[in-house]
Amino acid sequence: MKLFDTLLSETRSLFKKQFNTEPVWLASAPGRVNLIGEHTDYNDGFVFPMAIERQTIMAAAPYDGKTAKIYSAQSGELAEILIDGTSQPPASKEKVKWHSYVQGVVAFCIEAGLQPQPFCAVIHSNVPLGGGLSSSASLEVSIATVLEAMTGKRIDPVQKSLLCQQAEHKYAHMPCGIMDQFISALAKKDHAMLLDCRSQVPKPIPMSDTGVSVLIVNSNKKHELAGGEYAERRKQCEEAAQILEVSKLRDADPVRLETARDKLNDLQYRRAKHVISEDLRTRKAADALIAEDWAACGNLMYQSHFSMCTDFEITTPYLDLLVSLARWLGVEGGVYGSRMTGGGFGGCTVSLVKTDKVEEVSNKIREGYKAVTGIEPTIFATRPAQGAAVIEGS
Ligand code: ADP
Ligand code: MG
Repeated sequence: MKLFDTLLSETRSLFKKQFNTEPVWLASAPGRVNLIGEHTDYNDGFVFPMAIERQTIMAAAPYDGKTAKIYSAQSGELAEILIDGTSQPPASKEKVKWHSYVQGVVAFCIEAGLQPQPFCAVIHSNVPLGGGLSSSASLEVSIATVLEAMTGKRIDPVQKSLLCQQAEHKYAHMPCGIMDQFISALAKKDHAMLLDCRSQVPKPIPMSDTGVSVLIVNSNKKHELAGGEYAERRKQCEEAAQILEVSKLRDADPVRLETARDKLNDLQYRRAKHVISEDLRTRKAADALIAEDWAACGNLMYQSHFSMCTDFEITTPYLDLLVSLARWLGVEGGVYGSRMTGGGFGGCTVSLVKTDKVEEVSNKIREGYKAVTGIEPTIFATRPAQGAAVIEGS
């Protein structure tokens, strides 16, 4: 809560400094972490994210003129946004700027009937940008939510998520799945969300035991070759699905995979094995969470990491080290489970940790990681947070 209050008061002062007035409308939307279910989304499978206690806040007030003026504390720039429905997406990925996300959401909100008056706004965030915790979705959803406050109209949160996803596809040239926007818009405090990426039906799963926290550790090391791997993995999954004679890997099970093993090459087999087993693990993890069986949930996280390391090949030695350190501490040391989270080839691990051991675990992981790599990891603990909300204004 303290982090949020600081962010909010900083946003108010920045607004006053930029526009010499008080904001009328304020809205926030959180970043997220995926507990388990990696590379399952585009295979129509399950993901299991939760919102984190890190937010993007957007503050706005009426402004003279015909457009919107938006300042981002993170970019340090003021951008002009069209509100007359004539905006065009950037021609290519290279031309995408931070305000392309803003323009995209505004354009799709107008299409959905949220026509704002000319306004000025400040965006401020404590979700690390580009750190795999979805600063982009928290930015998009905070904009759509402040536009709801501004226009006094509400859109269905599912429609809001899809609209933000469209904005990211079209205006940021990023073909993202639906997880990030869904969890940012729909998260419930003290709940994770089991999301079926095919039906797009989210299921809140209670995680109310405050004795357990989620520790996020950023390896602060990106894979130099990262780039084409994501598209390559998608293609391999599609090929495997075709050979297995299913429309998506979601529709295959381990028996079908083993029966068709001879028809798949080694890579296709291992890629499919990860996705099929990860889908099962994700659903089992939701059951384990409901039963508050933290050790079972943690074991599924370790299995997920192992599968991403050996079969899907998307981890790095840095992420493997972080998970090994967590595993070495074990339940006795305060850790139930740990895995790489996000697209892979760098970024963060997510671990289930006993709340009263958070500091001890953080210190041990920091020391161990630094001793081997010389790199200082970024570490913070969180509990499942609330989704987007209007803070002020109608
Ligand atoms: P992630 O979503 O994992 O943080 P992305 O690459 O998807 O990483 O999104 C990061 C991009 O989103 C930034 O490069 C920037 O263009 C935009 N963005 C997110 N938050 C802000 C912000 N507060 N101010 C300006 N741009 C932002
Ligand atoms: Mg993103």
